[in-house]
Amino acid sequence: MNSAPNAPSSLKTAPPTGISGIPEMLLSFSLKARNSFGFEVLAEHAYSITHADQISPVIQSIEATGLPWRVLGGGSNVILPPLLPGTTLLMDIAGQAITQQDASGAVVSVGAGVNWHDFVIWTLDQSLPGLENLALIPGTVGAAPIQNIGAYGVEVGEYIQSIEAYDCHSKTMVNYPASECAFTYRNSIFKANPNRYIITHVHFYLPAVWTPRLHYVDLATLFTSDHVPTAEEVMVAVCKIRNRKLPDPKLIGNAGSFFQNPIVEQSQYLHLLDQFPELVSYPEGDAHEGKRKLAAGWMIDRCGFKGMRAGAVGVYQNQALVLVNHGGGTADSVLALAKTIQDKVQETFGVALAIEPIRY
Ligand code: FAD
Ligand code: NAP
Repeated sequence: MNSAPNAPSSLKTAPPTGISGIPEMLLSFSLKARNSFGFEVLAEHAYSITHADQISPVIQSIEATGLPWRVLGGGSNVILPPLLPGTTLLMDIAGQAITQQDASGAVVSVGAGVNWHDFVIWTLDQSLPGLENLALIPGTVGAAPIQNIGAYGVEVGEYIQSIEAYDCHSKTMVNYPASECAFTYRNSIFKANPNRYIITHVHFYLPAVWTPRLHYVDLATLFTSDHVPTAEEVMVAVCKIRNRKLPDPKLIGNAGSFFQNPIVEQSQYLHLLDQFPELVSYPEGDAHEGKRKLAAGWMIDRCGFKGMRAGAVGVYQNQALVLVNHGGGTADSVLALAKTIQDKVQETFGVALAIEPIRY
């Protein structure tokens, strides 16, 4: 078992509330180190949730106040304002273990607060391949199913067996098999129902039969056709590409891709291709539907935004899909830049760009 990655260190605390199972309440708790944009953010009240059984009494006490609340993992896919009113639940549930294993594969059960990349490395150390294409994605295991994290042609939902969560509607713990989680491109039942499910544990199934998945050009070009790489080699290659192309949030604040890649009907795609023959796009979903995923980064670059700066925020020089905080930026400043980009892309391509990180 590993320890919770984000446990708070210096805390200003309120007196205990007397309700059994409720952890210490943290007052005016700084989230600067817990949002990858590195914005100055204070949570009015916060609780570090380290056990699933703390959730029910905490939600009960929050609902009695009628004040707003939300859940936070590692803060790598959120845009936070300077003051987060009400209560913020910091998901710090630790622990990971192989809970079943036979010749066909292994079930691995993991606490929501475990760091995602550390978990990927741990699976490889246990000789359990499958998640290597998802290496170096920031954040927690509990947040991975929310937008069905994906990279280099792999989505986490493919390897999830079931998810344990507290359902704030039924006030019970639920355990949903992956087939009931509605995993689609950067989406899930959890993202579609904000503030309903609080994920406590994720159970993965990693099949013993494994082949590398190298169809993304950046990855494929790092290997020669006469060598079948190991999962560790793929993980190292993914880390190498990502370190080259993406800003490290510890050095330059960012939330990864700021916009989703839009998916359009074939007719709109063909119309765009007429005007922009070099448009970067990929087939999406069932071939007979003819839908196309457009590379939003390419469109933003084509509009001339790559590397531009607007005060404290800007567009990353190596990947136009990533908006960055050079220091001193705020949610408002990054959203103003996003609006400028959205308007220009709409005007140029007739395509609406949706913001990927969750705004609070
Ligand atoms: P947070 O940002 O804390 O939360 C995100 C959302 O999930 C919020 O709505 C929050 O309420 C909710 N949430 C968090 N934990 C729970 C829980 N336990 N129960 C219920 N709801 C919860 N994403 C990709 O898909 N692919 C990538 O390749 C990728 N690369 C990235 C690279 C960089 C440099 C950065 C900064 C981000 C990248 N991301 C990527 C986005 C981000 O890392 C993922 O979405 C990640 O899963 C977010 O995890 P988190 O713990 O930081 O979630
Ligand atoms: P990239 O490899 O330069 O590709 C550009 C875009 O084209 C990506 O958005 C990707 O879509 C798409 N693409 C490329 N090859 C494809 C293929 N063979 N089939 C289908 N689609 C293809 O992208 P990148 O910026 O360097 O990122 C690499 C990977 O990490 C991508 O999968 C990306 O999604 C992921 N990533 C995600 C975030 C995030 O915050 N969500 C941040 C950084 C990186 P997809 O995005 O659908 O894969």
